[in-house]
Amino acid sequence: MSFVSEALERIQPSATIFVTRKARELKRSGRDVLFLSVGEPDFDTPDNIKDAAKAAIDRGETKYPGTPGVPALREAVAAKFKRENGIDYKPTETIVGTGGKNVIFNALLATLNKGDQVIIPAPYWVSYPDIVSFAGGTPVEVTTRLEDGYKLTPAALETAISPRTKWLILNSPSNPTGAAYGRDELKALSEVLIRHPHVWTLSDDIYEHLTYGNFVFTTLAQVEPALRDRVLTVNGVSKSYAMTGWRIGYAGGPEKLIRELEKLQSQQTSGACSIAQWAAVEALNGPQDYIARSRAVFKERRDLVVSLLNKAEYLECPVPDGAFYVYPSCAGAIGKTTRSGKVLHNDEDFAAALLEEEGAAVVHGAAFGQGPNFRLSYATSNDVLVDACTRIQRFCADLK
Ligand code: GLU
Repeated sequence: MSFVSEALERIQPSATIFVTRKARELKRSGRDVLFLSVGEPDFDTPDNIKDAAKAAIDRGETKYPGTPGVPALREAVAAKFKRENGIDYKPTETIVGTGGKNVIFNALLATLNKGDQVIIPAPYWVSYPDIVSFAGGTPVEVTTRLEDGYKLTPAALETAISPRTKWLILNSPSNPTGAAYGRDELKALSEVLIRHPHVWTLSDDIYEHLTYGNFVFTTLAQVEPALRDRVLTVNGVSKSYAMTGWRIGYAGGPEKLIRELEKLQSQQTSGACSIAQWAAVEALNGPQDYIARSRAVFKERRDLVVSLLNKAEYLECPVPDGAFYVYPSCAGAIGKTTRSGKVLHNDEDFAAALLEEEGAAVVHGAAFGQGPNFRLSYATSNDVLVDACTRIQRFCADLK
């Protein structure tokens, strides 16, 4: 009898976290390593948010928070959805989890039965298919094309839907491509979804505030209110307020789903950390100027990285609309040999050799379901980015 459950056997460790761990080990062994593998803002959490957490401790907010979230945070979440997205969720139609990943995990665990299908446009965030598989469902990956801006088309969605489709996962702006769906594009997808009333949508909006240029963020439940009762709008404070370590994600959705998520959390975490929740109350209700400042910095970094990577031989780097990743193609490098004699058979070889030979940690495209590409997170300083891109240029120039 196997010690490990069949559910766990079905999945792999998260590639973003695994690569970062490998890079940390290399650094501990004395190597000079640059971390471009994990999507985490390098800024510190704003002071007003840290102060709110300290005040919560001093006030004694140290007891069980209530499974679905402290009431003040559920109210702040409902107010955020109204203010920023124009969606009316009552506080009872919101839930707070231990990070966005926990909310997504629970939504799928709470609703999937064996054989239920989940449509996942590729390239996708590494964890979606594995969470679906763990929950007993079947991921249905739909390849998107660079020519379509790596976005799911209505025709491809229509083709992918079957009687067993339970969910569509939409992530805009996307991790890893940065692709972001405009209002008209969401409207066109919603027309397909309206024709298939058994399909729910999980809209992962975690990168909402990180969009550049003239792009205007909208989300499915906002664009098509008729879908509201079968959409779970997931968000969190990690990326918008540099709060990755606080582990606070949240969602809005119909009460019948929220109640099931609460039931699951009652047997799981008993709710997210109370102190972190009070910090999130301040993040959502307090001054919002941090968002515009960080967006301006990320835009500058994006432009820097795209221009430097496009100077590297064999790489092609499109300009992403949002998030803090670039997802260049390294197709031209496949089949070549590195200066230490490694043959690059695929993008995993490319990323491994880049880490080994230049100390630049990026995540291979295969982990995101489409390549040969790699994902570089530019949520780090300009100095590190210039150093990293110089190393990547050198690595590519030395390929034979
Ligand atoms: N979402 C971030 C990333 O893709 C954080 C790590 C993770 O959970 O995957 O790097």
